[in-house]
Amino acid sequence: MRLILIGPPGAGKGVQANLLNKRFNIPHISTGDMLREEVKNKTELGKTAKEFMDRGELVPDDIIMMMIEKKLKEKDTKEGFILDGFPRTILQAEKLDWMLKNLTMMLDKVINLEVSKKTVIRRLSTRRVCKNCQSIYNIITMKPMKENICDKCSGILYQRDDDKEEVIKDRLEVYKKQTAPLIEYYKRKNLVSDVNANLEAEETFSEIIKLLE
Ligand code: AMP
Repeated sequence: MRLILIGPPGAGKGVQANLLNKRFNIPHISTGDMLREEVKNKTELGKTAKEFMDRGELVPDDIIMMMIEKKLKEKDTKEGFILDGFPRTILQAEKLDWMLKNLTMMLDKVINLEVSKKTVIRRLSTRRVCKNCQSIYNIITMKPMKENICDKCSGILYQRDDDKEEVIKDRLEVYKKQTAPLIEYYKRKNLVSDVNANLEAEETFSEIIKLLE
């Protein structure tokens, strides 16, 4: 199964990708997680990316494509993958098409997570992420068992710099201008299924499962 999860920040792409990964054991590829790992390790790539990420802007396409190409050539992504947060521009989508063609792979579905602006702002400003394993929590709807501690690895939970309200607004604008046109792009290829992502994570997940069955 080769899936793309598309939707604005806060639509629940990461949460749904994790649930799909648990259910079907398909590798979850999140360019955001990969970039945050580079930032944490203070690599050159991480330092460059951080400047864009902190402003809520997109990291340049060539950096992203380099990371993705490496990932798609790894053994465990041969049978399938869930792309979360990638592609984010038409150029990235075109390059992905070209890469998949060369690897004789085809996309199965693009799941479009539809969510209101109100839900996004509420979700993101209460989201917390594990510093260590990147698991996602919410201080209102998906609390960890111990306050600020990850249930899975006991890592510390933190609020992403780009989840602060002033950056969220910019990220939504970037989504509207640069990423939303991808829905049309994939609609023309008959790959898009819309899902209501205003619901609780488990309910949205059931909708996705129905589509995949
Ligand atoms: P995410 O965790 O998917 O919300 O991504 C966090 C940030 O990482 C984004 O706001 C961008 O700055 C950067 N980023 C992640 N994926 C991409 C991508 N495919 N293209 C460009 N920038 C990206």
